[in-house]
Amino acid sequence: MSWQRPDGRQSDQLRPTRFDRRFTKFSAGSVLTHCGDTQVLCTVSIKPKVPRFLEGKGQGWLTAEYRMLPGATPDRQDREFLKLSGRTQEIQRLIGRSLRSVLDMQALGERTLTIDADVLQADAGTRTASITGAFVALHDAIATLIQCGELDQSPIRHQVAAVSVGLLEGEAFLDLNYPEDVSADVDCNVVMNDALEIIEIQGTAEQGSFTRQQLDQIVNLAEKGIKELLQLQREALEFNKIC
Ligand code: UDP
Repeated sequence: MSWQRPDGRQSDQLRPTRFDRRFTKFSAGSVLTHCGDTQVLCTVSIKPKVPRFLEGKGQGWLTAEYRMLPGATPDRQDREFLKLSGRTQEIQRLIGRSLRSVLDMQALGERTLTIDADVLQADAGTRTASITGAFVALHDAIATLIQCGELDQSPIRHQVAAVSVGLLEGEAFLDLNYPEDVSADVDCNVVMNDALEIIEIQGTAEQGSFTRQQLDQIVNLAEKGIKELLQLQREALEFNKIC
């Protein structure tokens, strides 16, 4: 018997994914991303200065903070714990690296972009939803800078998106929800840009191990999902091809 998806999806089917742009008022970019029942709010704030290690170098910086809200999961979690946990640190660094990979820091100039990814509802795939949604918010934030006359051209060089793939009962499944995430023997998160180059792969065998062949299968399935997510980003942003 093979794994039956709780929500009846095909093995290669994404959860319904939607981006609500301009979700809050005061950030340069603000997007609520829905991936099935996972909901993440990503805002992008801009400051006209850079961290000390970059001062005077004529380049910008992007950093990210990630947090689950206490009520995002069925069991309430303590705010201080969520702030300090290793998982939080790991995920926010992944989001930062992923979004930095598509930015030309010289073209951004001496300013810092801060991405805040706050998980309103966690049904797995919160880090991947954060990356995919943060790209849409980043695009809006840069558009704000251009509209204000602070930048002439976009420093965004690629789109970036991410998705999870898991192995359950020997088969690969795209974009796991929580019941799948906890049952998966292997859990991977894949980040790619719109040249379909790999930015990062996180892969963990929760049970036993997995083979090189299975890794290829996982990356192929992730690529299919990421292509669709890149298209959904373009539709949300109403452009055909970036830059
Ligand atoms: N989760 C939870 N409490 C935690 C960590 C995770 O309930 O402290 C749930 C939550 O639904 C989360 C899922 O487990 O989305 C998968 O967590 P993981 O660490 O794999 O990260 P994610 O898939 O959200 O990027």
